[in-house]
Amino acid sequence: MKLIDTHAHIEEIHDLDNVIQRAKMNNVVAIIAVGSSIKSNADILSLASKYNGFIYPSIGIHPIEAETDIKTAITQIISNIDHCVAIGEIGLDYQYDISKTKQKEIFENMLQISKKIGKPVSLHSRKAWDDVFSLVQTIGISKAVFHWYSGPNEVLKKILDNGYFISATPAVWHSPKHRNAIEMTPVESILLETDTPVKYGGIPSEPSDVTKVLNVVAKIKNISIDKLADITTNNACKLFDISC
Ligand SMILES: [Zn+2]
Repeated sequence: MKLIDTHAHIEEIHDLDNVIQRAKMNNVVAIIAVGSSIKSNADILSLASKYNGFIYPSIGIHPIEAETDIKTAITQIISNIDHCVAIGEIGLDYQYDISKTKQKEIFENMLQISKKIGKPVSLHSRKAWDDVFSLVQTIGISKAVFHWYSGPNEVLKKILDNGYFISATPAVWHSPKHRNAIEMTPVESILLETDTPVKYGGIPSEPSDVTKVLNVVAKIKNISIDKLADITTNNACKLFDISC
């Protein structure tokens, strides 16, 4: 069995060697490491070269970093994008009181880079699902994953109709909204992830927890874990253009 954690903030982990070893023991063959800021992007790039062929970098500016200097961010992303499998974590977040104008400005800039170079985007869309979808579609992005999607079914339908993916996190266990999205989505459009080191039930996650997501989603979908692993890993390899 091969699994991919398609969204992890591995630069925030302290004992990364052990964490990676546990991930490998749990059939994880690759981790997509997503950046959130100029600093975390730099950290991820160096970790990806250290764990070459296992950690795949995706760099971007998270909406909670909307104050970031756009020019510096764009320069960093463009000059490193050849080594990356995606742009992200990018998007909009309406949960917190962060200037929507600034969030949109930086998000649009990130989407334009994706459009130009043809690499996928890893999207954060908390409470901003419709706006994120609209911008992604308006700018003409062809490859995207709506990470940890927990939004309404109307937007989900548009996401799926456009061939985008959503990803399942360990929250599928206890979050009715996230679970609903996974129930409504065919396995051909689902990726698995942990959003490491996010805490679920008070416990910090790590990439090996992708097996927990696999087990719950397999139950929801009523298919074997082997089959689900096959399909979702294939989905990830296709989206991020990595060999499985
Ligand atoms: Zn994240």
